[in-house]
Amino acid sequence: MQFSDFGLERRLMSTVEHLGFTAPTEIQQQAIPAAMQGHDLIASSKTGSGKTLAFIIPALQRLTKNRALSKRDPRVVILTPTRELAKQVFSQLRLFTSNTQFKAVLILGGENFNDQVKVLEKDPHFIVATPGRLADHLSQGHFYLSGLELLILDEADRMLDLGFAKQLGQINKAADHRKRQTLLFSATLEHAQVNDFAKELLKKPKRIAIGGAFTEHQDIAKRFYLADNLDHKEALLAHVLKNESYLQVIIFTATRSDTERLANLLVAQELNAVALSGELNQSQRNQIMEAFSKGHHKILVTTDLASRGLDLVNVSMVINFDMPKHAEEFIHRIGRTGRAGSKGDALAFVGPKDWLNFKNVEALLEQTISFAHIEGLKAKFKGLKPKKVNTKTTNANVNKKVKSQAPKIRKAAKKVFLVAQDVGDMAIIKRKKPLSAQQIEDGNLDEVN
Ligand code: ADP
Ligand code: MG
Repeated sequence: MQFSDFGLERRLMSTVEHLGFTAPTEIQQQAIPAAMQGHDLIASSKTGSGKTLAFIIPALQRLTKNRALSKRDPRVVILTPTRELAKQVFSQLRLFTSNTQFKAVLILGGENFNDQVKVLEKDPHFIVATPGRLADHLSQGHFYLSGLELLILDEADRMLDLGFAKQLGQINKAADHRKRQTLLFSATLEHAQVNDFAKELLKKPKRIAIGGAFTEHQDIAKRFYLADNLDHKEALLAHVLKNESYLQVIIFTATRSDTERLANLLVAQELNAVALSGELNQSQRNQIMEAFSKGHHKILVTTDLASRGLDLVNVSMVINFDMPKHAEEFIHRIGRTGRAGSKGDALAFVGPKDWLNFKNVEALLEQTISFAHIEGLKAKFKGLKPKKVNTKTTNANVNKKVKSQAPKIRKAAKKVFLVAQDVGDMAIIKRKKPLSAQQIEDGNLDEVN
C-alpha cells in the first residue's frame, strides 16, 4: 500500500512525498482511512510505529476538504501529556502546514501566558498544547471551541494518569457538538480508566489495535539484571556504558533528584551525560532537549517525564536504572529506542526496592523474565519470596490484581486528593493539597511516578 492510495488532497500528498514517506505503516494504513471517513478512533500500536502522522494526515485532509464551522475558533486541537512531546508533535505538524494557509500554534505550561493570549487572538487553525495551560486559556475566554472539528489526544492514557481528567473534560465540554471528531492514540490504551473516559468523549468509536497491547517489540532487545543495592546498580551502569556500544542512551531513574545525582556521577567518570527533570525551568528543559537531540550529549538521565512519545533517532539504548512504578511506563520507556524499524537495546536493573514493580512489568508483558549477569558483578539478591511482597505472586494473580484494582484506586484517588498510587502494594500516599495542573505540567511528578 502507498500513501497515494488514500486519495489525499494534492498539496498534502506532495508534502508526504517531499518528506520522503512512501509506504504507510500498519497503524497509518488503518487509522488514516477510518479517520478520513469521520469515525472517532481509539487507536493503539507499538512505540515508534508512526502514530503521529496517523493523526496529522487525516486532520489536514479534513481541514482542506471541509469548510470551517467558524471563522475564529481553532479547527484542530492536539493534546499531549508533556511539553517536550507537544513540541515534537508541533514541529512535525509544521512540516505539513508551512506551505499552506493553515496557522498552527503551540501552547505550553511554563511559558509566558500573555504572549500566548496574543497568539490565540490571531485565530490559529491548529493548537498543539499540554492540557493544563490550554484549559486555563479556555476558562479565561481567550478562545472558544464551538467550531472545533477534531480533538486529538496523543498518549491519552498518560494524560489521565497524570490527573488531567478534569481539564480534558472541560475541553471536551466546550467543544461538544455533533460535527466534532475525536481521536485517541497511544501504545497502551488498555486501562479501564481509558475506557470509561472514552465513553464520555467519543461517539461510536472504532477501535484499531495493531498487535496486542503488549506484544513483543521485535526491534528492542530487552535484558534484565539483578542488583543488590544502589552501589551495585552504579557499578553495573558504569560497566555497561564502558563496554557496550551505543549511539545515545536514555537512563530512567525513579525520582527527579536521582537524575541530577546520577548525571553528576557519570560526568565525573568523564562521560557526556546530562540530567533532564521537572525541577528545571522550561528554558533549561528546552536547551537540554535540543542539545541532546542534536547529539551534543551522549547520555540523558531523566524520569518518566521523557517516557512518552519522544522520537530521538539516535537513541540506541535505554536503561531502566530503577523500574517504573506504573508498569505501562516500562513499555513507553523502552520504546524510546527501536523506532521506525531501527534496532535498540533496553536494559533494566532490578534491586529489592524494584521487585514489586518488576513483577508488575513481568505480568503486563505476560512472560517469565530471566536475568542476564555480568561476570564479576553478579548479584546476591535473587528476588523476593512472594510472602515478603505481601501478595500471591503468580504472574496471573499480579496481573489480575493490577487490572482489577487500578480503577478502584484511581476513583479513591480523586476523593482524597491521592496523588500517588502503587498498584502493587496498594500504598496510598495522601497529600494535604492536590497537585495543581501547573505543578503536574512542571513535572512535579515524584509523588506520582
Ligand atoms: P509513535 O507515535 O507510534 O511512537 P512516531 O509518530 O513518533 O511513532 O514515528 C516514529 C518515527 O517513524 C518518526 O521518526 C517518523 O518520522 C517515522 N515514520 C512515521 N511514518 C513513517 C512511514 N510511513 N515510513 C517511514 N517512517 C515513518
Ligand atoms: Mg507518538
